[in-house]
Amino acid sequence: WDQQFLPAQLRLDDPLRTQKVEARLARLVLGGEVLRRAGEVFERELERGLKEQPSSLQMENTYVPELPDGTEEGVFLALDLGGTNFRVLLLELRAGDLVDQRVKQYHISNALRLGTGEELFNFLADCVLDFLTELGMQDQEFSLGFTFSFPMKLHSISSGELITWTKSFKCSGLEGVDVAALLQRCLRARRLRVTVRVLLNDTTGTLVAGAHMHKHVGIGVILGTGSNGCYMERASRVQHWEAAHERVRDVCVDVEWGAFGDNGCLDFLKTEFDREVDAGSLLATSFTFEKYIGGKYLGSLLTSALSALARAGLFPAAPAPDSLQTAHLSLFEEENCSGEVSRTVAALREACAADVSAQDALVAQHVAHVISNRAAQLVSVCIACLLRRMDRPHVAVAVDGSVFKHHPRIADLMHKYIALLAPHHPFSILGAEDGSGKGSALTAAIAARLAARDA
Ligand code: BGC
Ligand code: MG
Repeated sequence: WDQQFLPAQLRLDDPLRTQKVEARLARLVLGGEVLRRAGEVFERELERGLKEQPSSLQMENTYVPELPDGTEEGVFLALDLGGTNFRVLLLELRAGDLVDQRVKQYHISNALRLGTGEELFNFLADCVLDFLTELGMQDQEFSLGFTFSFPMKLHSISSGELITWTKSFKCSGLEGVDVAALLQRCLRARRLRVTVRVLLNDTTGTLVAGAHMHKHVGIGVILGTGSNGCYMERASRVQHWEAAHERVRDVCVDVEWGAFGDNGCLDFLKTEFDREVDAGSLLATSFTFEKYIGGKYLGSLLTSALSALARAGLFPAAPAPDSLQTAHLSLFEEENCSGEVSRTVAALREACAADVSAQDALVAQHVAHVISNRAAQLVSVCIACLLRRMDRPHVAVAVDGSVFKHHPRIADLMHKYIALLAPHHPFSILGAEDGSGKGSALTAAIAARLAARDA
């Protein structure tokens, strides 16, 4: 059983070099037993988080108590903030289906991502104004769903405070601020008749959008710049409520697994490469688990491991800082799958400014594979744990994010590892493209339905 978790083997012409490279990477290779242990820790942290005991898992109640039922109707605005692009969407739903959409992307500059929170939110409101003005709709009334892909302390389906920034955002003065209220204020200052009806995480959007596609969806996962998951938990197991919930059976819980291990409970997995990536990141010593999985970091892990091999005389030269991105990791994996090296060689020559042979390219492809394999294993640990917990006859997992979409074998690896880690829990993986946009409109429609029912 333990052996089935090992990555594909490296086979160089020189067996001694193979052995030395493998020894250098050994700590990145996780067997089934280690993963089982990580799963136990995850489960314990999850329980503690739900009970509001100290835990690295936030287990946030999202107040989204039901999934789409096919009655969702109307025209909604949606905002999606999380990566380097900010998207404004106008979506039209008929009987739960998306029948029309307009989308515009706005680039968020480095200055805005690292400036003040007020500036950022004024910019977001300016984008909404620009978007609606272009459509000649600046005077119309809209309900808006705001997908804000950062950890929040949620107070209701439409309000919540930022806890901490992650990924490539670090604006001042926004922690502890209700981001929905701030957005509302900025929209109002521009005389827009737009009401922020829902505030949600991208995983929630993905779960809701996925549930519209497939009736067994119970888990939403993002494997993109960052990583996180949410799932439908029994309401009775959730301790924290700021609203009446007697009639609520299940509720979506945002796990925030990017922070898993921030309290040290996963230190047995941490390698020298992880420490180096963390130290060089924008928000060091936080979101340790995300740094093993997220697209923002996989390229840096690759750089760190290749640099260590170069120092040991096992690779021609260290790649220049930031010269290798997650797209390179995907490329190396792609060529590795098809037994090619030419594009790997070309990319490495540029990144390392050195002569790189076909054998060297095989080394780099192997490093990319080992890193990818570990990332797939670690998200699978979390998903398998949620499947066991939900204990349903079948659960579909809705997944979105750039790594999931572009990495040539992450989905296959996840299938394999989830099945090994939760053998008695049938599941399927569903690509839920643009969960954040569509899911936010659907959630706004659900919120409207709930409000009408309560009135
Ligand atoms: C954030 C999560 C988000 C994930 C994926 C993480 O950094 O903390 O809230 O869901 O990225 O975008
Ligand atoms: Mg996103």
